Amino acid sequence: MQKPPLIITNILIFTLTGLIALVGVPVYAFFNGFDGFEIFVCVFLIYFSGMSITAGYHRLWSHKTYQANSLVRAVLAIGGAMALQNSILHWCSDHRVHHRFVDKNDKDPYSAKQGFWFSHIGWMLRHYQSERYDDYSNCKDLQKDKIVMWQHNYYIPIVLATNFGIPMFLGWLNGDVFGMLLLAGVFRLVAVHHATFFINSLAHIWGKQPYTDSNTARDNGLLAFFTFGEGYHNYHHIFEYDYRNGIKWWQFDPTKWLIYGLSLIGWTKNLRRCPEERIEKAKLAMIMQRTQQRFSAKKEADEMLAKLQREYDVLIAKMGEYYAAKKRLIECKQNSLKQSYENLELAYKYKELKQSMLLQKQKWLAMHELSFA
Ligand SMILES: [Zn+2]
Ligand SMILES: [Zn+2]
Repeated sequence: MQKPPLIITNILIFTLTGLIALVGVPVYAFFNGFDGFEIFVCVFLIYFSGMSITAGYHRLWSHKTYQANSLVRAVLAIGGAMALQNSILHWCSDHRVHHRFVDKNDKDPYSAKQGFWFSHIGWMLRHYQSERYDDYSNCKDLQKDKIVMWQHNYYIPIVLATNFGIPMFLGWLNGDVFGMLLLAGVFRLVAVHHATFFINSLAHIWGKQPYTDSNTARDNGLLAFFTFGEGYHNYHHIFEYDYRNGIKWWQFDPTKWLIYGLSLIGWTKNLRRCPEERIEKAKLAMIMQRTQQRFSAKKEADEMLAKLQREYDVLIAKMGEYYAAKKRLIECKQNSLKQSYENLELAYKYKELKQSMLLQKQKWLAMHELSFA
């Protein structure tokens, strides 16, 4: 089958900026060096443009995991244009198709099933999606956002102003326009490009699948470090409306911290989280499924699997009771019945249910260990 025609502009941009970042920047560093201010601006703009993609393009506009005021939206729209990954409208349209048809080679624009190269950058080098290029029918909601449409209509001027204007101005202040343009302009652009591209490639290839194996997405803490928290991609693909990707407080997800931080001053609101109960159940179901797959071929395993299933059902029931009690307790506390007898009773029951659920979980997990021994 003949491949679609090449997109020369994209090839030139990726090749030229890549070469300058790989060769030009080290050569300039060797002969002239970069000063502290240049390095600071570069790192700052990596975070600014990179997180405009993750917090803005991705979690705000593609998935609507929270709401933001116009100032936040305008800043994210400008930072996103600086990252040079097409307009919000276009990016989100592609991304919604990616989630809906993940891994389906004929529909997912950057299907990981087509290999590392294709999902990383290859998909942008040829007219693979030309028939639906201008079709934004899956983003009707975004077309009502004035800032989204402003950015879409003035995309090129905003790209030029941010990518050349900001580094050149700061370079002029610092007394070296060319050096700043190389480091905070080109090197920064290439770094953020590939960090984002890794989410489509590596985050669908390398890592664990604790929540679902119905698609190729993986959780990878190391990758999260280089992708502003987006490395927890297995979680993201199953619970895409959650504003967090790393759900544990210690998981590196600066995008989540930014969104949460802005909510404290009221600039973002209605941050959506998946209920803990559903997350826990997805994890348990995954463990159960893996054991079943492993033993499905062996006849003598039937009895053991049945036993595991029985204990699993008990665990799920206990978990349901525990989370119901937790919810009631939180409601009671919110209604400021703190000292009431009912509340004490509830708190006691809650602790008891938690203990019993955890014991059952331990027992069930130990049975898995034994069955693998
Ligand atoms: Zn997504
Ligand atoms: Zn994905």
